[in-house]
Amino acid sequence: MTAPSNSAARGRDVDELEIAPENGWNALYLDGEWVPAGDRELIDVENPATRTTVTRVPSGTEDDVDEAYAIAEEAQAEWAERPPQERAAIVSEACELLGEYADDLATLFAVECGGVQLKADFEIQLAQGTMDVGAGLAMRDGGRRKDSVTPGKENLLVREPAGVVGVITPWNFPLYLTSRVVAPAIALGNSVVLKPDENTPVTGGLVLAKAFEEAGLPDGILNVVPGYGHEIGDHFSGHSVPSVMSFTGSSEVGRGVGQRAVGSYTEPALELGGNNAHVVLEDADLERAIDAGAFGSFTHQGQECISINRHLVHESLYDEYVAGLADRAEQLPIGDPLEEETLVGPVINESQRDKIVGFVEESVASGATVEAGGGHDGLFVEPTVLSDVTGDMPIACNEHFGPIAPVIPFESDEEAIRIANDTEYGLSGSVHSTDVARARDVADAMETGMVHINDQPLNDEPHIAFGGVGASGLGRYNDEWILETLTTLKWISIQREPREYPY
Ligand code: NAD
Repeated sequence: MTAPSNSAARGRDVDELEIAPENGWNALYLDGEWVPAGDRELIDVENPATRTTVTRVPSGTEDDVDEAYAIAEEAQAEWAERPPQERAAIVSEACELLGEYADDLATLFAVECGGVQLKADFEIQLAQGTMDVGAGLAMRDGGRRKDSVTPGKENLLVREPAGVVGVITPWNFPLYLTSRVVAPAIALGNSVVLKPDENTPVTGGLVLAKAFEEAGLPDGILNVVPGYGHEIGDHFSGHSVPSVMSFTGSSEVGRGVGQRAVGSYTEPALELGGNNAHVVLEDADLERAIDAGAFGSFTHQGQECISINRHLVHESLYDEYVAGLADRAEQLPIGDPLEEETLVGPVINESQRDKIVGFVEESVASGATVEAGGGHDGLFVEPTVLSDVTGDMPIACNEHFGPIAPVIPFESDEEAIRIANDTEYGLSGSVHSTDVARARDVADAMETGMVHINDQPLNDEPHIAFGGVGASGLGRYNDEWILETLTTLKWISIQREPREYPY
């Protein structure tokens, strides 16, 4: 395997794409203005396939964070007063624009986060889906009237926007994971300050600012501060202005973000890591289970919170499953994501690669066997299948976030459930069986926020609750569940007749 050496974006300068702002991406987006980097430090955005710099963005400072929150706070009340259909129309227009810019976005996904065309298609579809549903929330604010225990009183539960929403997102599905918060937040009358991941400041933030700017969003409602999490993250998440702190990322960082948010009386909404199990029972349709297993492990190089982290396979099917999965892994075309036939691109950066490779090496040293792959070149990690794996090996007990499929045998449904639940995470999972009632029993016993029968864990639909339990997070995203998070209920009672007080 040889890493591609051609330069970035096959001749397409990302600062000159149609979607790019007039002076390129090297700016913060504050109060409706593209503020140039000035004397701020710069972040080099690197193409993980070629290891070349594709653009630079400012490294935002704590002062920038303060300014962005002050702008958002000032702008929010007037935005909340706008008619809901006007707010919805702007979100819908931004959603349309993403579709119009799909080619530019696919290039950006490739050069900024190593995403292949298939992943670009998924991500644009997911982003547009969540924006579409998000826009609709403007008209569904869900206030209620309730009778009172006090004679002559009427109770109203009025739903109001939360206020300012702070958003921190990761690099793996940057546009989607950002739009699933930003779109409903804006539709519901909030303002937003967004800090995208330092690996993907363009697709994770600045492109959305561009789409909303073109869609006519008033100044100050969406503000984007690119920056390093380790430099401005604590200040951002512990700030006194936001009412909601939406964080998507690792459980380790998320725990600190949640603690700092609560310390400022800010509601945390945390979508964190996973260690998802793909469980193949003894009566499974083997081919279906293998097809699903390959897709769930290797799509976007396994870099999704809901990727399969562990394959648990009944001992009677184990050898055939491992051979079938290894065969699939070996056939996947690896290469530059800009090449149309590529299905497996690079992982995002060196520290992720070193972590993945380290887990594989340590697990092999503890007795795991490499059945396919096992190598790497630059940031390209081969789709790898490991057999003879036990649940306590590093590749299985950690979220590896790579194109690695460790396969663990089990003897009974009870043992499969015990292994699947032997993790602090609880995000997604899957169960294969030709007996749906049996699969359902296993699904019920899996301690996760989401389980998919005769499929694999990679599922997200814009109108279905998404989220996990345990170290996988707090709260649910999408549709009415994110509406709960992004609004607050106020009890207004009206005493319509004079009330009798005891004195
Ligand atoms: P990460 O936690 O390292 O970074 C995520 C974001 O947090 C980035 O924007 C980063 O700059 C910021 N950050 C870093 N330190 C911070 C700090 N001290 N305070 C505030 N923000 C800080 O995560 P990652 O490795 O980039 O992303 C992968 C992780 O995200 C995996 O664990 C994956 O499972 C998880 N994830 C979860 C979901 C979900 O919906 N549950 C979706 C995608 C990814």
